Amino acid sequence: MAKVRNIIGDFRVEVAARKRKCDVKKDHEIGAGESHFAYEKVPGQRKNVCKLCAPDILQVAQDHLSQIIKDLP
Ligand SMILES: [Zn+2]
Repeated sequence: MAKVRNIIGDFRVEVAARKRKCDVKKDHEIGAGESHFAYEKVPGQRKNVCKLCAPDILQVAQDHLSQIIKDLP
């Protein structure tokens, strides 16, 4: 069987090489060496999400995917 393409392969956990700002709440900081969620809505333009905001962001994405799967004929 052919390998199925992963269309959310840009979703990943990254370790910040240096201090980063959270893309969800600008006053959240991601410290150097800290793990956090990252994705690229536009290829090459990484969005960083701190570990406080990541569960909510991922839950909304998961709910969205579940709804699409449910709506498919
Ligand atoms: Zn945050």
